[in-house]
Amino acid sequence: MAVGRAGGYVVQACSLCAAQRGTRSPAWLILPDPWHVCLRHQRWTDNSRSIRRPYIDLRPLREVVQAQQRLNRVVKRLGPVAARWVQADAYSILAHSGCPYRPEKVRQWNQLAVELGEQRVRPLAQFGWLALLTWDLAWLEVRRLSGALSKAEHREWLPRVSRRYGYRLAGPLAIWHGQHRPLAHDYLTVVRSGQPLSKWIRDEMSKATRHALPSPLTSLEDSTCLPWVRLPDSMDRLFL
Ligand SMILES: [Zn+2]
Repeated sequence: MAVGRAGGYVVQACSLCAAQRGTRSPAWLILPDPWHVCLRHQRWTDNSRSIRRPYIDLRPLREVVQAQQRLNRVVKRLGPVAARWVQADAYSILAHSGCPYRPEKVRQWNQLAVELGEQRVRPLAQFGWLALLTWDLAWLEVRRLSGALSKAEHREWLPRVSRRYGYRLAGPLAIWHGQHRPLAHDYLTVVRSGQPLSKWIRDEMSKATRHALPSPLTSLEDSTCLPWVRLPDSMDRLFL
């Protein structure tokens, strides 16, 4: 169930978290993404309205929990705004390249897709890739946005990271890399501060970083500086 890209998605809340707050289930959240990971209770909820399967148990899906923990570490390093930029770019690269399931996991994901539907399972199945790629982009971005990325570090990043992901991602990664060259100034301190910024600084920064400041409900599709995101109908936005 989608409200719209700028307006967020209506996602079911973790019922155990809701109960702790004295709220009856189903309770709904409005979030920028059509999914939510509750690390405390190890549950994945999404914008499905299924009553039979309101959440997906992550206890047997350890890699999804680890992926969320990895994304949280990126937020710690970059702050929420710049972390959102890199996650959005990672999302766009994956959307472009159609990252496949890991071979050793294909059976597990296919089994879950039979139970829950392909559309519901796909973001979950690709979440590990999303977190890993976000982490690798963040390595470069944390240096670049601080104005501390050397030309040599920038140059060496591409072959190192491309090797990890194989030929499918080589092209889109090269384009991302070309768009994220070393910067002369530290923008990260300003972005991390969360202070309201003057229009002049905002414009200057978005010209340099190629990203605008997102609102709390801006979707990943609208936060990327890359051109490839799937923008078909709202149901299809469950795609990665
Ligand atoms: Zn919970």
